Amino acid sequence: MTTTLESITTDNVLPASTAVVIIGGGIVGVTAALTLAERNIPVVLLEKGHIAGEQSSRNLGWIRKTSRHLHDVPLALAADRLWAQMPERIGRSVGYRQAGIMFLAKTEKQMAMHEDWLKSVAPMSLDSTLLTPQAIDARVPGGRGDWAGAVFTASDGRAEPAIATTALANAAIAKGANIIQHCAVRSLSTAAGKVCGVVTEKGEIRCDQVLLAAGAWSRRFLGNQRISLPTLPLICSVLRTQPMEGPTDIAVGAPDFSFRKHQGGGFVITQRGKLDAPLSLDHLLIGFRYLNQLRQQAGFLRISLGRYFADDLTMPRRWGSNASPFEQHRTTNPPVNEQLNQDALSNLRQAWPAFNQASIAESWAGLIDVTPDSNPVIDRIQSLPGLTIATGFSGHGFGTGPAAGQLAADLVSNTKPIVDPTPYRFNRL
Ligand SMILES: Cc1cc2nc3c(=O)[nH]c(=O)nc-3n(C[C@H](O)[C@H](O)[C@H](O)COP(=O)(O)OP(=O)(O)OC[C@H]3O[C@@H](n4cnc5c(N)ncnc54)[C@H](O)[C@@H]3O)c2cc1C
Repeated sequence: MTTTLESITTDNVLPASTAVVIIGGGIVGVTAALTLAERNIPVVLLEKGHIAGEQSSRNLGWIRKTSRHLHDVPLALAADRLWAQMPERIGRSVGYRQAGIMFLAKTEKQMAMHEDWLKSVAPMSLDSTLLTPQAIDARVPGGRGDWAGAVFTASDGRAEPAIATTALANAAIAKGANIIQHCAVRSLSTAAGKVCGVVTEKGEIRCDQVLLAAGAWSRRFLGNQRISLPTLPLICSVLRTQPMEGPTDIAVGAPDFSFRKHQGGGFVITQRGKLDAPLSLDHLLIGFRYLNQLRQQAGFLRISLGRYFADDLTMPRRWGSNASPFEQHRTTNPPVNEQLNQDALSNLRQAWPAFNQASIAESWAGLIDVTPDSNPVIDRIQSLPGLTIATGFSGHGFGTGPAAGQLAADLVSNTKPIVDPTPYRFNRL
């Protein structure tokens, strides 16, 4: 995990009851807690490890509308507004900057995909435009890449994952939320077919509503409740450079690298063209639902049968109210694929020689939870009243996180939703 992640001190005493329990202290759960606290609704957030220990601190920090599905754009636009208001709302900066995002195309086929995307989101009147190779050069000087073109959205941007979620959590606490770290939720308590509490490793809390925002663990948690949520894991490796002069403030994604400026003066870099896909039992159980994605992304995935498979196989899938896998896995820390990081850096150096001076400050990896259509689920579970889930963000939930958390809080508190929740229905999967 990035060494720049801010830590946070939280309460340690479990209350006997509350109105809402949130499971998971990533950006989605924390924003939901902040929203509920602002509405004076008693809320307790429980995190098995530490706030933002998993995806929410390990991501690249991109906040984008570019390349999103048309139906996901309203959530991204709502998130843009929330990011912009954040300093006023929580009393500090989280590094949000609308510095723009550019996706480069090497081939005419890739360029045609950008054009198709732009046509598909025409109803949203975004500020996205197509760029010629000359226009790329003007915006990101000093390049040697041979590009077919690019798509660019000036109002896209970035924030700093290492500070955003913990800053939001501190604000939630200041507004009355109770956040407890190192407290795994084992299972739900039910009465008369409805949720009435949660069983944690420290005891039980009675509540009216539960919001599950447990990231890559949501599938296992729900499986124990006999609810099937299809998600599969992918691992993405990342590196950060020491402070250096770079060619631009824009975040740039090419087919085989991406980079964006880090608040500390360096750049955060990854290999966009390859992701590790560790095989697990779930591939046998639900892998067939991903055939469409596999067809489109076959060349991107490095499928491996290794430690993850063995760990996953020995991890219980049913445990009642006894010790759960969650307290045995406080923070998922997948191995870094240094080769992919090196490949990304060398591809980037060929395209922008300014990165020849880059030296690596640190590297890390994160586990992403992917649904069959790459969009999250933010919905009430009809078969279990009192349970709402917000999960499966498929590698693009940091940018939309503040709006997704607010939407989840809206559903929990029966408030007019910030956007139409229809695209995020559970039963579409
Ligand atoms: C390397 C990488 C790069 C990415 N880049 C981007 C990007 O540039 N832009 C973007 O928008 N998105 C990006 N993403 C995706 C983004 O990080 C996630 O979609 C987002 O952070 C998901 O937030 P979350 O709150 O759902 O999950 P998480 O941040 O994973 O939080 C879930 C939390 O729940 C806790 N938990 C789980 N089970 C329990 C339990 N039983 N009891 C208590 N606590 C529990 C976990 O410990 C965890 O802290 C990237 C992800 C990775 C890994």
